[in-house]
Amino acid sequence: MYNTLEKQNQFTVDWDTMKKKKESGRVRGKNVDILDDSVYDDLTAGAEKRRLSLRVYVNKVLRDKTLKDKALLYYYPNLLKAGYEDGIIMIRDGTMDKVAQIRLMKKRLHCDLCDSDTCIHTCFATALPEFGYLFEDII
Ligand SMILES: [Zn+2]
Repeated sequence: MYNTLEKQNQFTVDWDTMKKKKESGRVRGKNVDILDDSVYDDLTAGAEKRRLSLRVYVNKVLRDKTLKDKALLYYYPNLLKAGYEDGIIMIRDGTMDKVAQIRLMKKRLHCDLCDSDTCIHTCFATALPEFGYLFEDII
């Protein structure tokens, strides 16, 4: 029953009404007040593109993120994001007992530790949210 209602809800969203409610502030109730405007706009655009309700889309995004984090931990148990600063992703490699610094060089990821564009650290970096930060000024 719940799933049936949820599926019906996915395709009955009136986006014009939602936009009007948002502009009037009525949709900014207890459920979405925690979001920054730019995040809210990105999420509503994503939901609208996929013809999903905002609630279903936000839950999907968060579930996907949680699953991805678990998969990363399973697949790369010795790698850990150590930080991000000034366009550099730092990845702690437990096997090498060193920190790899990943940065953009000529629009390609480059690992200072391996002096490579295609090492395990650059692969791992593409799965991190900070990967998007590297391209924030480009895209
Ligand atoms: Zn590397």
